[in-house]
Amino acid sequence: MSSVAFLGLGAIGRPMARRIAAAGFPLTVWNRTRARATEFAQEHASKAATSAADAVRDADIVVTCLSTSQDVFGILDEDVLRSLRRGALLLDCTSGDPATSKVIAEILRQESVAFVDAPVSGGVKGAEEGTLTVMCGGDTADIDRARPVIQAFGKKIIHCGPTGAGDAVKAMNQALLALTIWGTGEALAALAKVGVSPAVALDVINASSGRSNASMNLFPERVLTRAFPRTFRLALMDKDVRIAAQIARDEKVPAPLTQLAADLCTLAHAELGEDADHVEAVKVIERWARQEIT
Ligand code: NDP
Repeated sequence: MSSVAFLGLGAIGRPMARRIAAAGFPLTVWNRTRARATEFAQEHASKAATSAADAVRDADIVVTCLSTSQDVFGILDEDVLRSLRRGALLLDCTSGDPATSKVIAEILRQESVAFVDAPVSGGVKGAEEGTLTVMCGGDTADIDRARPVIQAFGKKIIHCGPTGAGDAVKAMNQALLALTIWGTGEALAALAKVGVSPAVALDVINASSGRSNASMNLFPERVLTRAFPRTFRLALMDKDVRIAAQIARDEKVPAPLTQLAADLCTLAHAELGEDADHVEAVKVIERWARQEIT
């Protein structure tokens, strides 16, 4: 079995790494805040490394799941590059940006290390259950080499195209997520004002053509209940949708809704702070409307 290093035990990285350990891969973990790695290694079959360079030294496959591509770029310092095995593969599950991923792939290529961008979708629950969708960019042979590890946490594994293609698909998916959260929030706030309860409105919408993951899952489970669990930070959705808007601009594709979604996410992020969950963006709509969606 390939030996695996997992770097980045955040909200989604932790359950992904847990599944890799449970699948029996020899696993070493590293996290910037060291206590998270130590705790993880105490609870799951794995070793905690004290530095990223130590973590990657014996790994056939290095999995990264950090906040941004820039963070991944940042940990690839001289020590790490020197420690990576020739012939190893870096599987980057960060929701990254295609331009930085291409730079990283080239740096690694010079060290005879392969790179696959492999962002995921399906949330913390999907990671815990091993049902994530994994969108890959890179060479078919490299994706096939990483596949047994990906299968530990992913159910649907799709080769989207060359390096950066996984990042691009993920960013556009996130723009759609933001647009449906925002649109559903506006619709339900307006309907509440005219006297239709959000639960009744969702009952109709979810049996009609306006339904989405937001209307079917996020609003009933998180907004109407006022639970607003913190599983995916708004700051990260802001980052994702700005990547989507940048791709559209780079490709000269007029995409006014994507640009607007990026601005709305940035605005909500500024208003609600670093720790807010993505669904809490709805609170901005509620403030503007002076109407709770409940
Ligand atoms: P978190 O904010 O919970 O965790 C971020 C992780 O990255 C932490 O381990 C953090 O370390 C580490 N990190 C951040 N910056 C650096 C840095 N400069 N150097 C080293 N390590 C760093 O994020 P998530 O786990 O939620 O998300 C990780 C990635 O997965 C993101 O790209 C996100 O967009 C994506 N994603 C998240 C989903 C979710 O539901 N949460 C769903 C799908 C994708 P430390 O502990 O020290 O802060």
